[in-house]
Amino acid sequence: MSVIDELVNANRTYAERFDRGHLPMPPARHVAIVTCMDARIVPSRQLGLEEGDAHVIRNAGGRAKDALRSLVISQRLLGTNEVAVIHHTDCGMLTFDNGKLRGIVAEQLGRNAASKAAAIDFLPFSDVVQSVRDDVAELRASPLIPDEFPIRGFVYDVATGKLTEVDADADR
Ligand code: ZN
Repeated sequence: MSVIDELVNANRTYAERFDRGHLPMPPARHVAIVTCMDARIVPSRQLGLEEGDAHVIRNAGGRAKDALRSLVISQRLLGTNEVAVIHHTDCGMLTFDNGKLRGIVAEQLGRNAASKAAAIDFLPFSDVVQSVRDDVAELRASPLIPDEFPIRGFVYDVATGKLTEVDADADR
């Protein structure tokens, strides 16, 4: 049995007990969370979210640049008006730079893939507090995100389960 078969089986159990089919599309708590795809991050458990509560926009690193498309949809069409950017300790984004990943792609996937990868900024970072500051600043500077919507940044510690707010306005 593949892992995906296991997921399908788990869903059968979920659906048997499911009683939230009445929820509306717009998030009830009007918040969008931008966070990493890291397997240790389970926002519903760590942030007390239920079905229907929030948009959770995930990508490698929880980078704002990648999330902007989804944030505009979230805010303009579905009524969210606050953003939490959550990066985390021990993030995979701390382990490489663009050159290294492009080299791995070239070696493992060949020349066509390498030319595609050359055009992608994989958005790695070397300091998780700074990456949160950068992404909060990027969203605050974007004309696509209204100035009056709160945007706050956090680091989630995968070793303790704790969320710590990053002072986005601190000196760099
Ligand atoms: Zn990560």
